[in-house]
Amino acid sequence: MARRTRPKLGQHFLHEKRYLAQIVDLADITPGEDVLEIGVGEGALTRRLLAAGAKVFGIEIDDALIPALKKMEDEHARFHLIHGDALEIDYTALPEKMKLVANLPYQVASAIISQLTEKVEHFPLMVLMVQREVGERLCAGPGVKDYGSLTLWVGYRYQSRLCQVVPPGAFRPPPKVDSAIVHLEARGKPQVEVGDEGLYFRIIQAGFAHRRKTLLNNLKSLNPSELKGKEFFSSKTEAFRNLLERADIDPGRRAETLDAQEFARIARAVESLMGGM
Ligand code: SAM
Repeated sequence: MARRTRPKLGQHFLHEKRYLAQIVDLADITPGEDVLEIGVGEGALTRRLLAAGAKVFGIEIDDALIPALKKMEDEHARFHLIHGDALEIDYTALPEKMKLVANLPYQVASAIISQLTEKVEHFPLMVLMVQREVGERLCAGPGVKDYGSLTLWVGYRYQSRLCQVVPPGAFRPPPKVDSAIVHLEARGKPQVEVGDEGLYFRIIQAGFAHRRKTLLNNLKSLNPSELKGKEFFSSKTEAFRNLLERADIDPGRRAETLDAQEFARIARAVESLMGGM
């Protein structure tokens, strides 16, 4: 009898061979290369990665799957099982450079992507199955509803491409929504040039805090210490209006209409205000 799956752990096992093959093709494995797989499940993708010659470090959280995976580890010299939570494990204990190839558990996919894309020097390439909506968020451009802080966070370090929409029937049990295979390739250099990356991302986060508010109104929520020199203005509104003028951005615009270069102009304007007044 088939084992009961655990929906809370995002257990939708991919069984359609063509999508498994497409993921492995996109990962472009060189024999002997180190690959990290998050959410090994029953090992369908793992076996294909091993067949392509990869050395696979596979993380799986579900105790019930571990005995079968341990057996698989005994049978494959290039498979290393890590029993644990992908959000908690110590990535420094793993090889320095790896491709991340995974059919991610959907409930933690965005968290895993946010966490691991920050380690761009460790993960030059990611090929991921995600919920279609997440795939669209990663690949969106300004002006569309999926565009937001995740797009810009990942886009700063990676070039994202949505390669394939995958219907629910490709999985067992089928999820309620479509999925998508995305390909994230590390950029040679960050998408934009800013002096202080943390500040750039805080501006983006503040900008998107309330989608219906204007950029000016959202930016006012930034910590006042971000704006040394604000005492030269009669109010915080005045300070941010001046700042947006310096960046040549209309304060009445909404964050979703700004591209990465425009957010970077705001960040540089804040930097020059802090440093130059
Ligand atoms: N790779 C398999 C496949 O393609 O069929 C399974 C993919 S399934 C969508 C996701 C897997 O991730 C499940 O086996 C689930 O138990 C595991 N998982 C869920 N949350 C996890 C976490 N935080 N850390 C590690 N594995 C997790």
